[in-house]
Amino acid sequence: MNRHRSAFEVADAVRRGEASAADVVALSLSAIEDVGGGPGGSINAYTQIFHERALEQARGIDARIASGDGAGLALAGVPVAIKDNICTSTGRTTAGSRFLEQYRSPFAATAVQRLIASGAVIVGKTNMDEFGMGSSGEHSAFGPTRNPHDPARVPGGSSGGSAASVGAGMTPLALGSDTGGSIRQPAAHCGVVGLKPTYGRVSRWGLIAYASSLDVIGPIAGDVRDAALALEVIAGADPHDATCSSRQAPSLVGSLDEPVDRLRVGIVQLSGEGNHPAVVEAHRRAADRLADAGAELVEVELPNVDHAVSAYYVVAPAEASSNLARYDGVRYGRRAELAPGDGIHDLFIKSRCEGFGEEVKRRIMLGTYVLSAGYADRYYLKALKARRVIKQGYDAAFDEAGGVHALLVPTTPGPAFKIGEKSGDPLSMYLEDVYTVGVNLAGLPAVSLPAGQAEVDGSRLPVGVQLVGKAFDESTLLRVARTLESSMAGVLA
Ligand code: GLN
Repeated sequence: MNRHRSAFEVADAVRRGEASAADVVALSLSAIEDVGGGPGGSINAYTQIFHERALEQARGIDARIASGDGAGLALAGVPVAIKDNICTSTGRTTAGSRFLEQYRSPFAATAVQRLIASGAVIVGKTNMDEFGMGSSGEHSAFGPTRNPHDPARVPGGSSGGSAASVGAGMTPLALGSDTGGSIRQPAAHCGVVGLKPTYGRVSRWGLIAYASSLDVIGPIAGDVRDAALALEVIAGADPHDATCSSRQAPSLVGSLDEPVDRLRVGIVQLSGEGNHPAVVEAHRRAADRLADAGAELVEVELPNVDHAVSAYYVVAPAEASSNLARYDGVRYGRRAELAPGDGIHDLFIKSRCEGFGEEVKRRIMLGTYVLSAGYADRYYLKALKARRVIKQGYDAAFDEAGGVHALLVPTTPGPAFKIGEKSGDPLSMYLEDVYTVGVNLAGLPAVSLPAGQAEVDGSRLPVGVQLVGKAFDESTLLRVARTLESSMAGVLA
């Protein structure tokens, strides 16, 4: 079986008995090996590979199918990679952190349980920026992940390993998490599709918390249909997560090819500054293709989106500083060695100093500061107000000129940058997120898909474009994305 077959095709072939899940999984495991995807390999996309367990799981799927009991398995035999901040009952769940290097979860995340119940096979856990904090994949205790299109460059982050896995054909599907762009931005840099669902569409049970009012689990896939298929499997109410919507999980794949009646797309005007020419070009080309496909284009503005980065980098660290307080070496996480005479405070301090990486410490300090007495009004509460205004800005854009179905925005201001290029300058790293964080602050669904290429220093790097939808309307969003994807098939080939 060709390793570039989609999840949809793999599951279909496995269900029909035309391919065995064990062969598909073995092929995925050898692809990981071939491209150096494993821990310490040249791409370093994984923190762990579950060789034996994956093959055993695959043989179990084959046996079920042989006994006639596999007809309902939506992801029969599909190899899936799981970001390492999503709990699995196999292996460790490190969140890319020294602190959790040896952490074994006693349970699997709801999203993972649903994948397994649908016949998917978990091949391993993917490398990531520690606790999800980063936009490059460099802030991992287990070394940086590299971009399969150019190993001197970053894959994006924080779900860099998941995007690299799909981008290099190691697995057709992966799970990521998106707090401020961590599914969409690495998907754009690795030339694949990344879907950030509406906040509350997918249970966060078993997702290691970064900023709980923003975090969402979602799929990274080779095409829009696979992303839709994966979301269908993982979405829906969960009694373990009170913030997870009780709305029924949407049926997406069946209606994906139905055209959106009188499709109208809001084209967000770019300020022109700070965008790589290939990004501007991809955005314009995507708009043209949508128009060719019959969409009516409406120019829209997102006036307050400029404030999104500032608001996000107050709200997210504030929540992170609270969520990460539990890692003290006693209740959670690796405990530091103590010297004679050390007390409980030394235990906390030493464990936290050793356990957290530099970026995480920066976020904790920032978050603690913006929440501290005397400053909370000026920073945290102000950011919450900005958050509301940003959300209203999106609502207004959707209502523009009688209503649009989706907004077209770049995913990132530029193509993948070099490893080390931004690591000494946190601000320039944060600006990488200008087009993604507003969507999280507003809780909306969005999808990044490949829309062009940039020639940089002799490398051809993927460039993505982002479609943003209305809350809980992934169905329309994905139909628009599918229209765009098919209209660009010739251009990207
Ligand atoms: N780059 C952003 C941050 O560092 C977003 C990360 C994410 O979505 N997890 O916070």
